[in-house]
Amino acid sequence: MLKTSLDIQKIRRDFPILNREVNGKPLVYLDNAATSQTPQQVIDVIVDYYHGYNANIHRGVHTLSQEATDKYEEARIKIQKHFNASRAHEIIFTSGTTHGINLIANGFSSLIKKGDEVLVSAMEHHSNIVPWQMLCERTGAELKVIPMNEQGELLMDVYGDLLSDRTKLVFCNHISNALGTINPIEEIIEKAHNMGAAVLIDGAQAAPHLIADMQKLDVDFYTVSAHKMCGPTGVGIVYGKEEWLRKLPPYQGGGEMIAEVTFEKTTYADLPHKFEAGTPNICGGIAFGAALDYMNKIGFDAIAGYEQELLEYATSELLKIEGLKIYGTAQKKTSVISFNIEGIHPYDIGTILDKLGIAVRTGHHCAQPIMDFYKIPGTVRASFAFYNTKEEVDQLVEGVQRARNMLL
Ligand SMILES: *Cc1c(COP(=O)(O)O)cnc(C)c1O
Repeated sequence: MLKTSLDIQKIRRDFPILNREVNGKPLVYLDNAATSQTPQQVIDVIVDYYHGYNANIHRGVHTLSQEATDKYEEARIKIQKHFNASRAHEIIFTSGTTHGINLIANGFSSLIKKGDEVLVSAMEHHSNIVPWQMLCERTGAELKVIPMNEQGELLMDVYGDLLSDRTKLVFCNHISNALGTINPIEEIIEKAHNMGAAVLIDGAQAAPHLIADMQKLDVDFYTVSAHKMCGPTGVGIVYGKEEWLRKLPPYQGGGEMIAEVTFEKTTYADLPHKFEAGTPNICGGIAFGAALDYMNKIGFDAIAGYEQELLEYATSELLKIEGLKIYGTAQKKTSVISFNIEGIHPYDIGTILDKLGIAVRTGHHCAQPIMDFYKIPGTVRASFAFYNTKEEVDQLVEGVQRARNMLL
């Protein structure tokens, strides 16, 4: 039996989708690293918004507009408090992590030049690789890669060697979505700062499992997507230190981000609106705040502790299957298990699992360089959330065993 103090059955009742069947079998949802499910408490907030006060924000004098603006700005403050940012205007609403990274990468176009270097880790999501490659193409700066070992841990001494006074930026994910590795970002940030380089941490995969403290980390930029932490899709934030956000130019032009517009000249609005052109995902932002409330009520320590138990149990059970290999065996990791069975394509395992009602991810998980490193086309990835159960782990293991018997 697992030791958690959480009442998992009670928690599961908050998630209506967990009651459905897939292919005639009860759904076993193990694709949480791609997107998490949404509790009724958050769905209610979304419904309330459209039932009660749907209106555009920051513009109208009318009551609905003011109510929507208040709730949206309350959500920004909730997010600020959750991540312990020192100011609410350091929280920029985005459509998600990808948007946040592009916003910052684009801003650096004017601050980076030929001869400068940009460091990125070997285990990044494509969304934390491609925008930097585009930045390097625009500016002539050079992209260098912090390598990793077979376990999926960054080689920190090589990182130290790569850093120089040419290094202007370092990008790394807090937790790898493909391997589950928790990266030593405190050390990464400190070493970069010693060289005068700025650091962006992609927190998309970390935010569902732990609370990152912006002030303690002293990080320059941190990105999050709401949909990986019980919120809706299409909304997220990028945290940026005020001094950086003042230095960076706006990403998109439009309404909402201006102070004054004439055909001769436009002046930009103050933070955070300078980076929030156009009508945002108002309902999404408010629902993101509700998702944080929901998770905080359960408690991140309890969530992390329980997920660690699921991870350890699933790892030991899966490894009993002959020919099964796990990719990503770092000392510190979250509840993500990427694996293959010798002689079987991951897609075939995923297809059979789906027939059994079990949702896993197969493929390269938007991290092709990791797959190239291991010389594999992809993996099967099972990723657990706090609403998954030990019984579901057993079903996964049984399903994988069945797939192996059928395919070999
Ligand atoms: C999911 C994810 C992203 C991309 O997030 P979007 O919500 O698709 O923008 C980036 N990095 C990591 C580590 C992720 O897990």
